[in-house]
Amino acid sequence: MPELPEVETVRRGLEPWVTATRIERVTLNRPDLRFPFPEGFAEKLAGATIVSVGRRAKYLLFRLSNGLIWLSHLGMTGSYRFAGHIFKEPSRYYEPVIDPKHDHVVMELTHPEHGALTLIYADPRRFGFMDLFRDEADSPFLRGLGPEPLSNAFNAAEMAGRFAGKKAPMKAALLDQRVVAGLGNIYVSEALHRAHILPTRAAGALVPKPGVRPAELEALAKGVRAVLEEAIEAGGSTLRDFRAADGTTGYFQHHFAVYDREGEPCPTPGCVGTIQRIVQSGRSTYFCPVCQH
Ligand SMILES: [Zn+2]
Repeated sequence: MPELPEVETVRRGLEPWVTATRIERVTLNRPDLRFPFPEGFAEKLAGATIVSVGRRAKYLLFRLSNGLIWLSHLGMTGSYRFAGHIFKEPSRYYEPVIDPKHDHVVMELTHPEHGALTLIYADPRRFGFMDLFRDEADSPFLRGLGPEPLSNAFNAAEMAGRFAGKKAPMKAALLDQRVVAGLGNIYVSEALHRAHILPTRAAGALVPKPGVRPAELEALAKGVRAVLEEAIEAGGSTLRDFRAADGTTGYFQHHFAVYDREGEPCPTPGCVGTIQRIVQSGRSTYFCPVCQH
């Protein structure tokens, strides 16, 4: 499943190609993805210009000149690509090759410099979805989301407020989207390892007495930021067939410190531990029992 760094990579890949493009025509090859497309989706997008491509948690947010925001969630297998003619041979026009089974949304765009582009959204398993609204506050997907992990709003003091008195294990606490938005299973394991905190510890146990510096939560905020930034830097990572928005396939294999590394030596310098796997709330957690406390 694409996590935040992959979504950010897709956003960065799309941005130069779709910003300032006019949406000429939208073809939906089926009525729904995980959810039905919003009423009049194709008609409302047609004629608008894409002003910007943003991201909130794992949602792509395309701001349109008609005041609407088009939200896209990639689910498990969602991907964007452009019709081959742009990248393969700029001098010749290629009729875009559409796979009617998996290419659910086809958009004809006009870019002020690149000219006609076809943007295709494919999603074999259809866990992705799209929405359209005027204000972020109107979206049930965005309402109630906690701070962006890469923003200053995500910090030790904020976490201390949320974690005080909480018995939930750290793993679950960090997967709670009200605590931090967009953090998924892989990067929770990675961030806890980076901060040397056990995933099984009660969240409330990391909150110090009033007046005491929340050193562990500071390390955690730093760890979350570091693992995400490194993954974005590496171009994201993938465990499934997922395509960067520029049409490149395969994807950069990001190196994880603990995720999917059960039985391997802990990469923390000087640590003699071996990575272990446990299951929490039905999902795998990886950690080092020696350097995580
Ligand atoms: Zn270790």
